[in-house]
Amino acid sequence: MGLSKKQQIVFIKGVTRALARQFTSLDNPGFCYTCGEERDGCEPDAIKYECPSCGASEVRGLMYATEHPVMRTEYAKKHLNKQIDLYEKERNRLKARRRYNFKMEQRIG
Ligand SMILES: [Zn+2]
Repeated sequence: MGLSKKQQIVFIKGVTRALARQFTSLDNPGFCYTCGEERDGCEPDAIKYECPSCGASEVRGLMYATEHPVMRTEYAKKHLNKQIDLYEKERNRLKARRRYNFKMEQRIG
């Protein structure tokens, strides 16, 4: 893997956040294998897209980014669990809000 330690962290954080939001978001994030940065407009199976940060044609879609070796590190697993927790909290908050709105509608209607 050619990413520096710092670039690996950027890559891991980007991918785990993208995984956690994929059910509620319509964006198409891709991740650069050369510098670790994220860009939009990549289908999940995109390969060799150009990176606006470093110029290399090494951006891949989420499907491939999850298979990058850095995603198998303990650091990545820890981050993924954290993002999933945040996602579940947000999902529960939205569910509670929906229940509350429904109750209010019943009362008004
Ligand atoms: Zn790049």
